[in-house]
Amino acid sequence: MNLLQPTKRGVFAPIHPLPAPPETGKMMELVPGVHWLRMGLPIALDHINLWALADGHGWTIVDTGIDHPGSTETWERLLREDLGNVPVTRVIVTHMHADHAGLAGWLVEKFGCKLWMTRTEYLSAQAIAGSSGEEPAFRALHSKAGWTAAEIAELGARKRTIAGFYAPLPGSIRRMRDNDTLEIGGKLWRVIAGGGHSPEHACLHCPELGLFISGDMVLPGISSNISVDPVEPDGDPLAEWFTTLSRIREKVPNDVLVLPSHGRCFTGLHERIDVLVGEQRGVLKQLLPALVQPKRADELFGVLFKRPISRSDIPLMGLATGETLALLNHLVTRGSVHRRTGADGVTVYQLTNGATL
Ligand SMILES: [Zn+2]
Ligand SMILES: [Zn+2]
Repeated sequence: MNLLQPTKRGVFAPIHPLPAPPETGKMMELVPGVHWLRMGLPIALDHINLWALADGHGWTIVDTGIDHPGSTETWERLLREDLGNVPVTRVIVTHMHADHAGLAGWLVEKFGCKLWMTRTEYLSAQAIAGSSGEEPAFRALHSKAGWTAAEIAELGARKRTIAGFYAPLPGSIRRMRDNDTLEIGGKLWRVIAGGGHSPEHACLHCPELGLFISGDMVLPGISSNISVDPVEPDGDPLAEWFTTLSRIREKVPNDVLVLPSHGRCFTGLHERIDVLVGEQRGVLKQLLPALVQPKRADELFGVLFKRPISRSDIPLMGLATGETLALLNHLVTRGSVHRRTGADGVTVYQLTNGATL
């Protein structure tokens, strides 16, 4: 099914409203040569969108789903029935997370093609896929955030489960860099790489088709996870995310159809970016009055999150901790907040003298 019609300017305008997404394990044609695939995920976020782009005598696949029971069978069926038994000639992965990179190694091995990724995302994916869940930096970050040894061990076990979502990655990549242009099926796609959600996430923009593959950088309905990584405990991923979104807004016109990794395709890229940035700035403002007195990261969950964060829900605690630290690190980098680690080994944060609320 072709959902979009070309306008006079060669940009594809959606027929409103855009129909429902393909069912899990199915695909639909968005514009000639661009197909939208959906794969299931065994986590709270229950699906990922993948893209198959006609590329001469083969397919370029963008993102891959995770390696879990049934997923390679779904791929086999899609390749055979929906993608016409035509070989995959290139696999592009937007970023390191398992839902995106999990089956990259399997596809690359099966078709003897190359994996295209930015270098930092590839190396980071290798690190997650090889994680023991017991790395000292991982333990240190959570212990300073007030986690008990038992809680850290449980999150470590969860990390090992996630490591199992990756088929072995290939030993080499074709490196993508910010501002590269890829020719796919006779169309030019520009790479826009930037940090925030992950260190060097690649989005792809095709001006001729009016399409923007946003990965996890710009999502409809939910905001991207911005978390501090134990590899860089003092990092400021929120600043990187603001910068990347502002670059995307500058380089990609508002009238593209956005192809996100989760949720439905949408239009209104600039408005969506403005809302996302506005929300994060609002949260930062909201955090400041809570820091008049020194607070641990976990004492701020009530201020930051609408739903209660139960200490027994370890994966949720992990997300909440990573995101809270990202907000706090941003305030520390800006000089609005200072941090110190007490005798109990837990870090507390407090408004700097003279910082404005
Ligand atoms: Zn992601
Ligand atoms: Zn994702």
